[in-house]
Amino acid sequence: MSAQSEHLGRSRRDFLRGAAGLALGSASLSASPFIRGAAAAAKRKIIVVTFGGGARDQETFSSSGQENIPHLIHDLAPRASFFTQVINQGILGHYVATASLATGVYETLNNFSAVPPEHPTVFEYFRKDLNRPASDAWVVAPSNGFNRIGESDARSFGNGLGARVVLPKHLLNAATSGSNSGFGHLLHDNYETPLYTPQLVGGEFELQQLEMILKLSVDDFKAHALTVSSPDELSVYIARRLMREQSPSLLWITMHDIDVAHAGAYSLYVDGIRRTDRLCLELWQAAQSEPEYAGNTTLFILPDFGRDADEDAGGNGFQHHRTGDAASRTTWMMALGAGVREGMVYDQPMQSIDLVPTLGTMMGFSPSLSQGKPVKELV
Ligand SMILES: [Zn+2]
Repeated sequence: MSAQSEHLGRSRRDFLRGAAGLALGSASLSASPFIRGAAAAAKRKIIVVTFGGGARDQETFSSSGQENIPHLIHDLAPRASFFTQVINQGILGHYVATASLATGVYETLNNFSAVPPEHPTVFEYFRKDLNRPASDAWVVAPSNGFNRIGESDARSFGNGLGARVVLPKHLLNAATSGSNSGFGHLLHDNYETPLYTPQLVGGEFELQQLEMILKLSVDDFKAHALTVSSPDELSVYIARRLMREQSPSLLWITMHDIDVAHAGAYSLYVDGIRRTDRLCLELWQAAQSEPEYAGNTTLFILPDFGRDADEDAGGNGFQHHRTGDAASRTTWMMALGAGVREGMVYDQPMQSIDLVPTLGTMMGFSPSLSQGKPVKELV
């Protein structure tokens, strides 16, 4: 496992040095890139983009895959610190893995159940320690099953200090009063198992989110929804409205289009990768053009985990993530923007649960129950 993970990390590193011109980094060789000081901390914005279901290197960070991710390689990586060996040692289901990313603990909750994370979330640490209002932490989540991800049931925190969660599919269901004709492709929810179909809701609360928070009329929202081709495009649209209207300092967006791979159609999986590549650039550009974000935002991009390798007898290649092999557990992370060294690649191993402690050090809160540790190349 470890040798295979190292091999994956090194081949990503070598590919990025060649294709994107990144320099091999060593944290010990240069001063911290981190911007300190109270004024900078008060203005700092963090945007985290996770993919529910990553993609394999064959279709992304390799000579055969690079054509699918031109923006990640040529527009974003040269501005980023890229970590090529991010190990997920937890359960490889999307909700539980995303919850683990958000708590800094490998959660063990039932992946197919809309329950809150057991340990405090990054949103609760952030709001509690920095005394921030509810409007300052938002999650845009792809699946109806993610509606509890904003706040744990940890007793010392679980008292209204979480993030607000917006589920674009619920907004759409509310806006169309449940008659979803013409929007079916935007409402496809869970790709992993047809046995799990979380309830699609959407009512008065969602209509209030649209009008009061996103400042969108039902008609404008529906008209825009007719122009987008996937659930993730709808999520990014909502995220951009949130940035414009609420300017949260901690914004977490989870995308899910790539996971259509479970349906077994390779071309749809590749389409999902290409769309995700384009949407990541769109979010980065939004962070450059919105006055509240320009110059003080750090963007993190990371899949929750990978997919099975072709050669693993128990797996199904690109289609699933069932084996727990090195390919499915060894993913990557890109950080770019304020306080990040540009054009660097690091192949020292880190873990998925290291994200939250890293965000804590960057923003000045203490994720006391997280089991990860800050990534030293970023702090
Ligand atoms: Zn999946």
